[in-house]
Amino acid sequence: MKKRRLAILGSTGSIGTQTLDVVRAHPDMFEVTLISARSSVDKLALQAREFDVNNVVICDESRYPELSSLLEDSDSKVWAGQESLCSLVAGDEVDIVVGAMVGFSGLKPTLAALEVGKTVALANKETLVAAGSIVTGTARKNGAAILPVDSEHSAIFQCLLGAGSNEVKKIHLTASGGPFRQWSRERIAEATASEALRHPNWNMGAKVTIDSATMMNKGFEMIEARWLFDVSPDDINIVIQPESVIHSMVEFADGSVIAQMASPDMRQPISFALGFPLRLDCGCPRLDLGLLKCLHFEEPDTERFPNLELAFRAIRRGGNAPCALNAANEVAVEAFLQGKAGFYDISRINETCLERLDFVADPTLDDILLTDKETRKIANGCID
Ligand code: MG
Repeated sequence: MKKRRLAILGSTGSIGTQTLDVVRAHPDMFEVTLISARSSVDKLALQAREFDVNNVVICDESRYPELSSLLEDSDSKVWAGQESLCSLVAGDEVDIVVGAMVGFSGLKPTLAALEVGKTVALANKETLVAAGSIVTGTARKNGAAILPVDSEHSAIFQCLLGAGSNEVKKIHLTASGGPFRQWSRERIAEATASEALRHPNWNMGAKVTIDSATMMNKGFEMIEARWLFDVSPDDINIVIQPESVIHSMVEFADGSVIAQMASPDMRQPISFALGFPLRLDCGCPRLDLGLLKCLHFEEPDTERFPNLELAFRAIRRGGNAPCALNAANEVAVEAFLQGKAGFYDISRINETCLERLDFVADPTLDDILLTDKETRKIANGCID
């Protein structure tokens, strides 16, 4: 069988390194032809050597000389900047683009891949939040597939296999509830970044872990599901499943609810996207139902987690509103991580930015880029 050639964008992050674990477990199935990172040159150089990667891109151009010298005596070609990345993902040496970057920076390379009909395994949910209509429209126009890597969306995708033409009645999007699920609003208000970074079930990057603590992550995933599966936000029900064993569920007309379960390990959804339609053993821990004994379900609390409500508000308004919410949130989370903003400043900044948005009902890519830029200014103004 011909190997699937992967471009891993964001290869040094949490999803990127777990994608490489999947490749390590199945070297007969995959080869890595392109890797990129924002600024982690040392890690990137090690990966380039281990996987003998043809093209290596450092997005922060100031780090190019460093990466170049680290890979001087290797066969890898070294590139810098987002434009190089966009032209390389569209090249002949790539079959599947793994979008594992963090935040809005993933948008342009994802579009570059979809424009030439490449399959994109998408973990970078901010891309769909900010520009869902443009991203899915570009995929449709060019016959490109978007395969979900986010565990919830992978679960929905798996539940829909075999659904035929049956209409989806409801999507039950599960959430762990994050580290503050049982904390009072008063206690959450005092939460520090290190407390928010202690996720009970998942081992993830810093941005998504903070988003899990504020439940912005679940709000974004609702928007992501709206675009990936073409469902109304009104038909997406968010349910807390604290064990993170049910990764999401789909309800049909007859009342049947199909769930996908697995131990919380990102290598499962990553390997499902990369190996589709094959299921690959990547050494993920097996689900031990005897040990687990029971599963719990709770309703989310929008008083303590206001970001959830803001996400519904943004997607119902549509246009460039979700883009503004994403930009505001990226700035606010960064400020929180640096200790410059408190926990509830994040949702306060997000709400202010939504209110002050210069609304565009049917945004072009330029409108989206401008909304992102302008919203970041407003958000930064809320911090100083
Ligand atoms: Mg998720």
